[in-house]
Amino acid sequence: MLSSVFRCLGTNPVVGRRSMSQSSLAGKVAIITASTDGIGLAAAQALGKRGAHVVVSSRRQANVDKAVALLQSRSIQVTGTTCNVGKAEDREKLLQTTLDRCGGVDILVSNAAVNPFFGNIMDSTQDVWDKILSVNVTSAFLMTKLVVPHMAKRGGGNVVFVSSVAGYQPMQALGPYSVSKTALLGLTRALAPELARENIRVNCVAPGVIKTRFSSALWGNEDVVEEFKKQLSIKRIGEPEEVGGVIAFLCSEEASYITGETVTVTGGIGCRL
Ligand code: NAP
Repeated sequence: MLSSVFRCLGTNPVVGRRSMSQSSLAGKVAIITASTDGIGLAAAQALGKRGAHVVVSSRRQANVDKAVALLQSRSIQVTGTTCNVGKAEDREKLLQTTLDRCGGVDILVSNAAVNPFFGNIMDSTQDVWDKILSVNVTSAFLMTKLVVPHMAKRGGGNVVFVSSVAGYQPMQALGPYSVSKTALLGLTRALAPELARENIRVNCVAPGVIKTRFSSALWGNEDVVEEFKKQLSIKRIGEPEEVGGVIAFLCSEEASYITGETVTVTGGIGCRL
């Protein structure tokens, strides 16, 4: 009896087509900020592998060229341009390049963040706060504001913010950065009901420690890693692809009833506000 059910599922063309079409992003255009390395690049790969045309960007042209070449070598449709998300003219150029080359936009992955300060929160300056909040939070909102009318024109879309486990549990010496990541959890929840009217879903991912340049101070030190692993259920540092896949899932039809949520990708660190 069970084997005939499995045989039916395996051979039924409708079942097969349905699951493929739900994960497919063919025909979609995705802007991913800060996407020439680390989690952004992995997200671009995951979205591209599902058929999206991905628009990659970061501050340095050489990094953009390298990322474009890598993605092309994996048969992904890709456009690249420089964009420092902290600059209004760069954000506008990123959108305009996308519209000119791809004809519209369906997905925004807002991934860029900076952390120019390590230390006690009371020793941080207004300049530090202005920089962190401007790049990590305000730019994420302003980029969303730019793309939403274009998503609405195409009947809907997806926005994914990249927060952090630090948004739930502030990390020692990373106070202002942690607060900026908590703000993204709030932005996700505040925007989701507003943009649902336009058929735009707004979600967020909160990575734990993932092996990228950004977190190298942590995973580069064996003693620190061993201590850190004690907090994890899955006893290893995460890989960027493990976050990229979740982002692609959130942007796909498989996640069509999910909005206003943050998915934690932490190897099992308990996350609650
Ligand atoms: P990463 O590997 O160091 O890559 C950073 C990327 O951002 C590079 O492509 C860099 O290229 C670009 N970039 C930096 N500043 C930028 C700016 N102002 N405008 C545009 N692009 C910029 O970093 P990552 O670890 O993947 O981090 C990505 C996101 O994940 C961040 O939001 C971070 O907070 C979050 N996150 C990371 C971890 C982790 O453990 N790695 C954990 C939690 C959350 P250019 O130098 O060419 O600009």
